[in-house]
Amino acid sequence: MNNWITPEGFKTGIEEVAPKVYAYIQAFGELGVSNAGLLLDKEGAMAVDALMVPSMTRRFLAAIKKVTTKPVTRLVNTHHHIDHSGGNYLFREAEIVGHTYCRDEIVRTGMPVDFFQKRIPSFAAEFPKLKLAVPDVTFEDSLVFHQAGREVELRHLGPAHTFGDAFVYLPKDKLLFAGDLAFYYVTPLAFQGHVGNWIKVADRILKMDVEIIVPGHGPIGGKKELREMRTYLALIRREAKKRFDAGMTAEQAARDVKLGIFARWREPERILPNIMRLYQEFRNELDQPLDALQVFDGMRQLRAEWHGHGADDPDMCCI
Ligand SMILES: [Zn+2]
Repeated sequence: MNNWITPEGFKTGIEEVAPKVYAYIQAFGELGVSNAGLLLDKEGAMAVDALMVPSMTRRFLAAIKKVTTKPVTRLVNTHHHIDHSGGNYLFREAEIVGHTYCRDEIVRTGMPVDFFQKRIPSFAAEFPKLKLAVPDVTFEDSLVFHQAGREVELRHLGPAHTFGDAFVYLPKDKLLFAGDLAFYYVTPLAFQGHVGNWIKVADRILKMDVEIIVPGHGPIGGKKELREMRTYLALIRREAKKRFDAGMTAEQAARDVKLGIFARWREPERILPNIMRLYQEFRNELDQPLDALQVFDGMRQLRAEWHGHGADDPDMCCI
């Protein structure tokens, strides 16, 4: 039986987090199951992320219809991952905004339906329905929209979860839509990221005037949860370095590190790609992508070892 930490109120749905600002949360935040945001304005709404497959995006759009009659005219992608950008095409009236790298990655990878079906089998039937829609507007470091009577700041603080993460900050509301810079009670995934810099980015956010943080995965929280996530990243970085220096392989290290409380955050087997990526960081090879097949197969194997399920059990959630 699973023993995941599931905070009270961690359920799928829309919630007003500041006047005319909403978080759309999807429980339980596992791979492919992400959060989104919404800001209402007189002319039209702005959404933060589009979720992954049509059933998810349509539920989000239905929730939007309940709080506004206006269309979504602007959509921010916090990064290129399919669980944040897959639903882009369903926001037909929206201008899509993202970091330059985010756009470049979506253009470069296109829509590898086969790959998604194999790696996220629970949603296999829906991937062929997706249509590619890429950001129309890009930025490098920051971009500010003045709408809904406030400043809406998009900022990129360097490589972290990916090389093109952006968060959406509403200073007046002390509120941050963090995208996948924040994972709460779901293990952070760094297979395309930079763990060392992610820790620094978390430190910078912790110094900002922020009270409410909507993570990319997991329930709404604040700095307390971000600090916990930072603790996880620092723990695996420190422990991976010891084992790297001792000549252990990433596979051995992933099995050797004691996760403590973080073993109860969902998808703890992500420690494997995280350590594989850390080894690349230690070797100064972050320009080389990890082999995605090796990553997913390795996680499946680790999950089977830890939970005693068949390594190829298709019902094993999401990998
Ligand atoms: Zn992501």
